[in-house]
Amino acid sequence: MSKKSQSKKQERLDRLNYFGKTLVRRCSSQCELCEASSVSLHIFEVEPVPNEPELSHCLMICQQCEQNLKYPKKMQVDHWRCLSKTMWSEVIAAKVVALVVLQFLAADHAWAQEALEIAYIEETEQEWIAQWSLS
Ligand SMILES: [Zn+2]
Repeated sequence: MSKKSQSKKQERLDRLNYFGKTLVRRCSSQCELCEASSVSLHIFEVEPVPNEPELSHCLMICQQCEQNLKYPKKMQVDHWRCLSKTMWSEVIAAKVVALVVLQFLAADHAWAQEALEIAYIEETEQEWIAQWSLS
C-alpha cells in the first residue's frame, strides 16, 4: 500500500472514530443489530459506503454480527432471528441492514419471508436497500 493511500485510510479511521462518542451514546453499549451487551462493539459502515464517512451510514455492532455480514455464505441463520425486531429500529442504517439480510434469507427461510411481509419501508429506505445486496 502506498503512503498516500495509507494516510487516506488513517484519515477515514480518524473521521469514523470522531463519530464514536455519538454512536456509543446512541447504542447504549448494545449491538445495534442484535442487542448483545457486554461485548466489544465496532463501528460498521453500511453499504454503499459513502466517499466521506457519514454518521447515518455507521452502526455499532458486535463481532458476531460483523462476521455474519462479511461472510454471508457462512451466515449463522439463527443469529439473525433478532432482525424481526431490528427491522423496526429508529436507526435507519440498522433497519436497512435488517431488511437486506432478511431479503437474503427469505429465499430459504419462511420466518424471514413472514417478517418482510409486515415490514414498513419508507421510499428513501427502499432506495438505500436497492443499492445493496448480499451475495
Ligand atoms: Zn450483534
